[in-house]
Amino acid sequence: MAEVRLYLDQPLSQGQPAVLTQPQAHYLFAVMRLDVGAEIRIFDGRSGEWRAEVVEAGKRRGIVVPRERTKPFSGPPDLWLMFAPVKKARTDFIVEKAVEMGAARLMPVVTDHTSSERIRGDRMEVHVIEAAEQCGAVCLPELTDLQPLSKVLDRWPEGRRLMWADEGAAGAAALDGLAGAEPGAWAILIGPEGGFSGNERARLRALPFVTRVSLGPRILRADTAAVAALALWQAHLGDWR
Ligand code: SAH
Repeated sequence: MAEVRLYLDQPLSQGQPAVLTQPQAHYLFAVMRLDVGAEIRIFDGRSGEWRAEVVEAGKRRGIVVPRERTKPFSGPPDLWLMFAPVKKARTDFIVEKAVEMGAARLMPVVTDHTSSERIRGDRMEVHVIEAAEQCGAVCLPELTDLQPLSKVLDRWPEGRRLMWADEGAAGAAALDGLAGAEPGAWAILIGPEGGFSGNERARLRALPFVTRVSLGPRILRADTAAVAALALWQAHLGDWR
């Protein structure tokens, strides 16, 4: 059986007892039936991963002690994923997959054709943590609040490139868009189910930091497009190389 792996929102260090949350204690001791002496893996998003020993196992409370570092800290590449929130389950999917694929920051953005103007930050965070626990990541991506795409573009940071997945480029060779692209600070932009507006498209085409890419001949749903774009970027410019 695979060892349980949990994220703890507190700085971990060797020999220093760490307190589980009530749901974590319930999961470990009521659901998984672990007891004092059991070993689990824990990470805090900063110090890598630890093998930890259960030293207190209550119904609602538990304490574990990090014994040995099992992985050093390492973060994903400096990649932001910008996406327009879609239906709840599809947004959950995008968040979960972005953690598995490796993104440093998840940025929901409102575009002209965004259908859902709200996003549950707490719900996104739960999915980020679950995905990181199961995929072996030792770093959680940062989550930003929903903001208008136009504002994000107005305040675009110096030196960062933007890989824009444009459904208008569908059919072109995906790799042509990335010809000559260099690794470094990047962002990916995925539109909503309704695609980008004429104004957005004109603006994106004119911005010097934008690299327009195709994701193949078929029109993908936004959640599929996010995963495809992450794979394309990771294989060419990221940590899949
Ligand atoms: N309603 C639009 C499609 C939107 S698909 C239309 O019919 O044209 C949602 C998003 O996924 C797009 O905005 C784009 O960012 C991305 N996408 C989907 N398929 C793509 C493709 N073949 N190439 C590039 N981007 C794509």
